Amino acid sequence: MNSSTAEPLESFAVIGAGPAGLMAAETLAASGARVTVYDRMPSVARKFLLAGRGGLNLTHSEGTARFVARYGPAADRLAPLIARFPPEALRQWAADLGEETVLGSSGRVFPKSWKTSPLLRAWLRRLEGQGVRFALRHRWTGIGPDGALAFATPDGEAAVPPAAATILALGGASWPRLGSDGSWTDIVAGLGALPSPLTPANSAVLVPWTPHFAERFAGEPLKRVTLTFEGQRSHGDAVVTRAGLEGGSVYALSGQVRDALGSGAAAILWIDLKPDRSEADLAAALRAPRAHQSTSTFLRKAGRLAPVAISLLREVAGPALPADADDLARLIKAVPIRPSGIAPLERAISTAGGIRFADLDSHLMLRARPGLFAAGEMLDWEAPTGGYLLQACFATGRAAAEGALAWSRTSAAPPSAEANVAG
Ligand SMILES: Cc1cc2nc3c(=O)[nH]c(=O)nc-3n(C[C@H](O)[C@H](O)[C@H](O)COP(=O)(O)OP(=O)(O)OC[C@H]3O[C@@H](n4cnc5c(N)ncnc54)[C@H](O)[C@@H]3O)c2cc1C
Repeated sequence: MNSSTAEPLESFAVIGAGPAGLMAAETLAASGARVTVYDRMPSVARKFLLAGRGGLNLTHSEGTARFVARYGPAADRLAPLIARFPPEALRQWAADLGEETVLGSSGRVFPKSWKTSPLLRAWLRRLEGQGVRFALRHRWTGIGPDGALAFATPDGEAAVPPAAATILALGGASWPRLGSDGSWTDIVAGLGALPSPLTPANSAVLVPWTPHFAERFAGEPLKRVTLTFEGQRSHGDAVVTRAGLEGGSVYALSGQVRDALGSGAAAILWIDLKPDRSEADLAAALRAPRAHQSTSTFLRKAGRLAPVAISLLREVAGPALPADADDLARLIKAVPIRPSGIAPLERAISTAGGIRFADLDSHLMLRARPGLFAAGEMLDWEAPTGGYLLQACFATGRAAAEGALAWSRTSAAPPSAEANVAG
């Protein structure tokens, strides 16, 4: 990162070829810069491709205030960046790549193919047309004493002369086999920006089920339930797994469960199995004569409960369910589940923690390392599923690139790179 570089000043490095890095590369290349994108994997954007398997949720159509509030404590820092590349701009960007977007349930936005691959193919064609170069199988290991970027490649170590500016977009640490393994944290700490610990976000919740329940019901959805944890609610399907519960409604509360368990508090996740029926209505239905029906048959008919829901009641209340209709209705409206933890980072949808905003200027440049920028999930923010993750990755990728361009123009005599690192 100094002016005596072998490369021209307008040559930029982007490390990490996920959505954040590719958006940074596009923004840089669109201004005429020469860009090389490095990634440790043999192909780009593996997590982005995986995200398309369940229907790629690009962003959300809700109003701005509600949208940015999803980022919790990071909302203030992300709001101006998202304002410069808002959901409408993202939808237009996708449309320009041939993927019109459609609205799904509750205002979520998807590409019309519901997949990543057509969008990614068109995007890579555009990047190649812009002259963006890709250096794959390059694992970033640090910055050498002369400011050179250090990589491990299948052919050995490689040192790349300092670029005009470098953008790190190395992702979080979930699904590490797809490329982002969080190993950058030590390198970045060595550069003077100690990241906050990487922890799972949007994760399944672990519940110590009895072997019978786990074996019999793993894979069964509890349909249209409402979950409540410490006053926070989420609505949707929760799928029973051998280890606990998963699904969008569970992920939405997993951060709170993680934090409560981390602080040693007792955690109870309440499940309302019949959110569309009042307790009084349910109790009235459960007062009907049972005749010769078994409890399960009676609950299935009078309570309109699925077998998995009936077994869940037994799982928490024991085989003999309350005989009293009011007590039974109360239980159905608030089944107490005691999670023992949340699923580890390897299986989480996203990662909390990362480079702290206090260590970044408003253009996402590391204060301790002028000329080095960071974007995407490696920054210290978290958000629920619903398109908020990708929106923030795209917006911060773009913002970091704009910052890098501005910095390279104004830094006539950039500070020389100090000796440091290598992981
Ligand atoms: C199953 C699943 C489904 C998802 N669905 C959605 C969804 O529908 N909507 C949504 O908004 N979000 C979704 N997400 C989250 C979303 O995919 C991520 O938030 C997003 O991919 C993060 O983008 P990123 O560019 O910051 O990092 P990544 O996509 O993780 O990319 C980082 C890149 O950096 C590379 N890299 C890492 N370390 C190094 C190194 N040392 N040297 C060189 N390269 C390195 C990696 O190989 C990787 O290519 C989903 C995630 C998962 C796991």
